[in-house]
Amino acid sequence: MTAKRCDIAVIGAGMAGISCARQLAAAGREVVVFDKSKGMGGRMATRRGDGFSFDHGAQYFTARTPEFVAALAHWQQAGWCAPWSGRVVAGQPRELVPEARFVGTPGMSALCRALAGGLPVQHQLRLLALQRNGSGWQLAFDDGSQWQAQQVVLAIPPAQAAPLLAALPALQTRAAAVEMQPCWAAMLLSDSPLPLAFDAAFIGEGPLSWVARNNSKPARPAMESWVLHASPAWSAQHVDDDPAQVAQVLCAALAGHCAGSVSPRQLSAHRWLYAQAANPLPDGFLLQDGVGVAGDWCLGQRVEDAYLSGTRLADALLAAH
Ligand SMILES: Cc1cc2nc3c(=O)[nH]c(=O)nc-3n(C[C@H](O)[C@H](O)[C@H](O)COP(=O)(O)OP(=O)(O)OC[C@H]3O[C@@H](n4cnc5c(N)ncnc54)[C@H](O)[C@@H]3O)c2cc1C
Repeated sequence: MTAKRCDIAVIGAGMAGISCARQLAAAGREVVVFDKSKGMGGRMATRRGDGFSFDHGAQYFTARTPEFVAALAHWQQAGWCAPWSGRVVAGQPRELVPEARFVGTPGMSALCRALAGGLPVQHQLRLLALQRNGSGWQLAFDDGSQWQAQQVVLAIPPAQAAPLLAALPALQTRAAAVEMQPCWAAMLLSDSPLPLAFDAAFIGEGPLSWVARNNSKPARPAMESWVLHASPAWSAQHVDDDPAQVAQVLCAALAGHCAGSVSPRQLSAHRWLYAQAANPLPDGFLLQDGVGVAGDWCLGQRVEDAYLSGTRLADALLAAH
């Protein structure tokens, strides 16, 4: 089979991959983005149904560096994200935790979709192998297709990047050393508002680490909808449990904070196997022989880290060209 060609192949349509691809394309490079899933945004995920939606991955993002503050201002102006002024609490007794928080609109995944506007994105293609070929790289995907690229960006979690880096053992070792923690996320719909005096809470006890009223975020459907995240430790202990059972346990834990029972109209759970890095790298990105590796885990654990990792890798690839 003849390989298709592109200048730079970016694997991963999450925040790191899309911000990297956008910057490369803006500098005139010919970029093609590939993702194994149907949608955009990776862990900045939104699940939609009839009259409701859940951001079941990343909950919100903050901006702590001048680069990200500037990007965010532009995205806000374009209407791709908005401040979330929900009442977020922590501790016992509960106290407000003030911070400027932002969310994609109308859902978390919409931000990456907007950022990818104009970029060619190939969906439902999983990269299986990466091999040197002349001065570039040969990519083999799970539909049997082959692509040839001068440079390659792997903007995917470390457990998924490491097996693809066999031709670059130094990079493979760095990626393999990063441990990603799992997170169970339950999604709960209710016919009436839950009797809770907050829109979101950091919970430091039992199975829960975080709960949030999704419909308190801007531009979401009005139906009462809650996302419940289990702690990394609980998620790791129960990683192979049945999703329906996990959803019940997390719902019961929420009821303990509601002074009463919760009768969900709909309840389900999603397992994030690679939610956030326990021991992120300090580098920002990895780069060798035209293969760059980016992602939140190359710098930290957050959306902002993914953005910075992707854009810094783009700068390095442009400088190396
Ligand atoms: C439950 C949860 C809660 C979180 N809460 C917050 C929060 O409140 N605030 C915050 O700032 N951050 C939060 N985060 C972290 C945030 O989601 C990430 O930092 C950020 O989205 C990572 O972006 P990324 O581009 O590095 O990776 P990802 O978003 O994981 O993107 C990687 C993409 O690569 C694709 N892919 C993987 N392997 C392959 C392959 N072989 N071939 C093709 N495609 C592939 C995947 O489908 C995915 O789309 C949370 C994450 C989770 C899971």
